[in-house]
Amino acid sequence: MATTTRIPFFSLKGMVAEYRHDFMAAFSQELDAGQFILGKSVKDFEDEFARLVGVTEAVGVSNGLDALSLSLAALDIGAGDEVVVPANSFIATALAVSSVGAKPVLVDCRLDHLIDPGLVEKAITSRTKAIIPVHLTGHPAAMDAILSLSQRCNLAVIEDAAQAHGSRYQGSYCGALGRLGCFSFYPTKNLGALGDGGMVTCHDKSLAQRIRRLANYGKQDRDTHLERGSNKRLDSLQAAFLRVLLSDLADKNRKRVELAKRYLHNLAACPGLSLPITHNECDPVWHLFIVRHPERDKLREALAANGVETLIHYSIPIHLQPAYKDLGYMPGDFPVAEELANTMLSLPFHPWLDDGEVSHIFGLVQRFCAAYGKGPRNE
Ligand SMILES: *Cc1c(COP(=O)(O)O)cnc(C)c1O
Repeated sequence: MATTTRIPFFSLKGMVAEYRHDFMAAFSQELDAGQFILGKSVKDFEDEFARLVGVTEAVGVSNGLDALSLSLAALDIGAGDEVVVPANSFIATALAVSSVGAKPVLVDCRLDHLIDPGLVEKAITSRTKAIIPVHLTGHPAAMDAILSLSQRCNLAVIEDAAQAHGSRYQGSYCGALGRLGCFSFYPTKNLGALGDGGMVTCHDKSLAQRIRRLANYGKQDRDTHLERGSNKRLDSLQAAFLRVLLSDLADKNRKRVELAKRYLHNLAACPGLSLPITHNECDPVWHLFIVRHPERDKLREALAANGVETLIHYSIPIHLQPAYKDLGYMPGDFPVAEELANTMLSLPFHPWLDDGEVSHIFGLVQRFCAAYGKGPRNE
């Protein structure tokens, strides 16, 4: 393949091309239905999504961050409360906690990028009300340990499943394991809308009703507002587009799993390269494919020089973000998250990559690592 090949980290072109016709038909139907807020498509999408996750309740909301903050609010978590969240996540996980007035208490992750349950236990105080495990990159967190800890300490578990649509842990779907499950339909997620969207899942009808109310001005009926809610609803149009994609999600998830197998196989013998760590009890639907390398920046440059764009998820852990300066964390507080931040690299990874693109990526990584293996650093 020519070195002029440009492979962006992510592109929605393939997705749009595949579904354009179905999107247009859905759009046309919505125009005719004319119910752009809380229309039938929202209800239908909620029912279908609940069935997929294996829960009785699903509430469409405005985005993943709001799914998390509504969940916390519905559990009456607020000022004076603490919620344990991983230092290695997208910042929205912590922002949700801050948004309800509670304090995010960060803990380190393991080398598999997921929250370390042993450290969660150490972070629990008399103020702790909930734990938010994040199924990062589609890999389920250690839910057995987290759920038994939560039962022992009487804490709510809110799953951040924003990257894990269809991932399973011991056969159960992410989003059905804790008290509440939170999803994002940001366009680049495994199930992504043509704009913002989110969902909260649970097995508890009254909790779902509370979330629905909080997302709709705290409204009980046309005239009565039972509590001070906000406007955090899912649009009918987005629900209609998401229904198109949901009907094909199983196929796309299978493609991601197959693609991950190819990455794992083709990159297995690369000197210096650490591949993602997987667990037997999990059936992940891969959202990202993150490798680690001691010369990460040089690997990144070598790929960029050959047209391959990569990203780092996440280059600044939450405890070192300026936004959370007041929490008082210091470099060195979460050594694993910091080690990952310095060595990890996300390769382009999505179901619309073609064979040529995938081979091009493999070839470049293999070549870089072979040269590294021959270098003075190799023991
Ligand atoms: C994307 C994401 C969110 C936030 O979702 P939005 O829909 O973008 O608000 C929260 N947590 C994680 C882990 C995410 O990846």
